[in-house]
Amino acid sequence: MHPETFSALNSTLYMSFNTLGLSPSLLKTLANQHYIQPYPIQQQAIPAILNKKDVLGIAKTGSGKTAGYVLPILMNLQWIPSSKNRHIRVLVLVPTRELAMQVREVFEVFSRDLPERIKSLAVFGGVSINPQMMAMQGVNILIATPGRLLELVKSNAVHLNEIDTLVLDEADKMLNLGFREEMNRIFAFLPEKRQNLLFSATLSDDVTNINQFLLHDPLVIKIDSEEDNIDLISQLAYFVTDEKKGPLLRYLIKHNEMEQVLVFTSSVFSADNVALKLRNNGIEARSMHSKKSQELRSETMRKFKTGELRVMVATDLISRGIDIQFLPHVINYELPRSPKDYIHRIGRTGRAESPGEAISFITPDDQHHFKVIQKKMGKWVTMIDSDGINLHGF
Ligand code: AMP
Repeated sequence: MHPETFSALNSTLYMSFNTLGLSPSLLKTLANQHYIQPYPIQQQAIPAILNKKDVLGIAKTGSGKTAGYVLPILMNLQWIPSSKNRHIRVLVLVPTRELAMQVREVFEVFSRDLPERIKSLAVFGGVSINPQMMAMQGVNILIATPGRLLELVKSNAVHLNEIDTLVLDEADKMLNLGFREEMNRIFAFLPEKRQNLLFSATLSDDVTNINQFLLHDPLVIKIDSEEDNIDLISQLAYFVTDEKKGPLLRYLIKHNEMEQVLVFTSSVFSADNVALKLRNNGIEARSMHSKKSQELRSETMRKFKTGELRVMVATDLISRGIDIQFLPHVINYELPRSPKDYIHRIGRTGRAESPGEAISFITPDDQHHFKVIQKKMGKWVTMIDSDGINLHGF
């Protein structure tokens, strides 16, 4: 491994949540949830939100933005005297029912072990309003889609004049879905003095408009997406036959002294098989896929993140849930079906702080498909013929 990559990896591996100003009970829940190190957006957003600053976060889903605002909001709420009934303190506006439920779940998970009871609720249209009106009793944090929120305000089920923090999550999507007018009506109900947090995947003109009129001297955080990171990743492909894939994998790991390698296969069977053969050849490896119990997956993940486990062999299905930043090596033992998945896989290695390396094994049957992937990605990958490598003994 390149020495600079190694030191960058080390420094990020040892960065922990402890330094961000969160309470012991939140730190305990973070550990239980296997959140070992804060993601870049969390490193920046948490201290700023704790300091009551406005934040503009340009980040996509998957960046860890939700915990980035949920954790400090829960901290801040502990210092604010509880409000009158039906006067919520925190309002999170979201574009869809799915996101509303997802954000509520994160609030729920992290408030479970807090000394003070903090009640959160998600409300959205398309379902009956009555149960939502009744559930509003004693709610501190409301996650809402704009239309349904206005209906609830109109029927006096909720009051917005004591709001301390406003969050707009996926603001660009909210604007694309035509919520602008509803959002303006909601803003008019809010008290003048409050904290504003705005998250958006892109910085469109519409988002810039809202940002200028809503945010005061915000901290701007921009997290690059995987597609943006492609140029940071050094990509290489090895032309290899099926029989020689195993020896080539072991050769590359040993010869290049790779630590923390994520290997992708296209099936559960293959993941198990590759991991087993690595272990038989003295390389610490575990497979990670949907057929493993949740407990085993968490354990494997923890070991891999902390560096105890050198190689994790995973399928695409599980790759969506793998949240590791700053990974130095990804190897496509088998190619994914879609170019999007290819970018998602290799995007795990490219970060400004630690540029990574992505290697793909290409069999004669894969050649055409790999051309399609490269074309979609807009980048051509250097191809090495593995026939020139002496794999004897691997
Ligand atoms: P988000 O971008 O907020 O939708 O988060 C994406 C995923 O990352 C969610 O599944 C979170 O549970 C997970 N996640 C967020 N922060 C961390 C962290 N620091 N460590 C591990 N997983 C995280």
